[in-house]
Amino acid sequence: MPNTVKTRYSPAVLEGIAAGERVVLRLTLARGDLSAVSDAAATALARAEELMAVAREREPPIRPIACKKGCSACCVAKVLVSPAEAVRIAEYIKKKLSAAELNALIKSVEDARARSHGLTRKERIQKAIACPLLDSDGGCLVHEVRPIICAGWNSIDKAGCDAHFIEHTADMPPEMHPQSNEVALAVLGGLIGAAIDRKLDTRPLELHAALQIALGDEHCGERWRRGESVFEAAIDREVSPY
Ligand code: SF4
Repeated sequence: MPNTVKTRYSPAVLEGIAAGERVVLRLTLARGDLSAVSDAAATALARAEELMAVAREREPPIRPIACKKGCSACCVAKVLVSPAEAVRIAEYIKKKLSAAELNALIKSVEDARARSHGLTRKERIQKAIACPLLDSDGGCLVHEVRPIICAGWNSIDKAGCDAHFIEHTADMPPEMHPQSNEVALAVLGGLIGAAIDRKLDTRPLELHAALQIALGDEHCGERWRRGESVFEAAIDREVSPY
């Protein structure tokens, strides 16, 4: 059953959040330095986390958030990222891992990409292709810089997560705290809007494919900021057929 809570996070409020973030992030993307793209993604994730915390405090979930470190049930879902996020995640991975670890991860990303290419959201879940960014403890290797979609996703129903993502006995995803998810998506909308204002390609990217590109091209952020469609091969055609 979906939540039907009365909320202050009306469509108008969410649009206002997106519009405010768009103005700030447009200025960041307009900077001439090499960090502008990843800084925009960093600002957006930090803002999303801040607003999610506020939403949970102001309008607490009807049951506790079930998500915990080590639970990775939902990390078989298709994740979409904006180009700026893909650039930042790849930069973080390259700084964090040794050369051997990076090579192993690139192979895992390529494998996940090959296995998941062209699959719908539903098919992805049924094939249970784990995100290559999961670490051996079931944590997220890139938690500090994770996609806003991942940050905003939550569940207040662990059994529902298992039924949907693992056992495939439930078509519907588990019940969530919608307010925190929606404010995160509003901030992501602001990040995308800022890139549109800069006349950049903002079509949504599939995470594995975007990482494959960003890990293989250290200049992809700068090229994207100059207007090149460097992520063309990673555009998710289920969401963006053009
Ligand atoms: S990026 Fe992290 S949180 Fe998102 S699906 Fe992958 S492992 Fe899970």
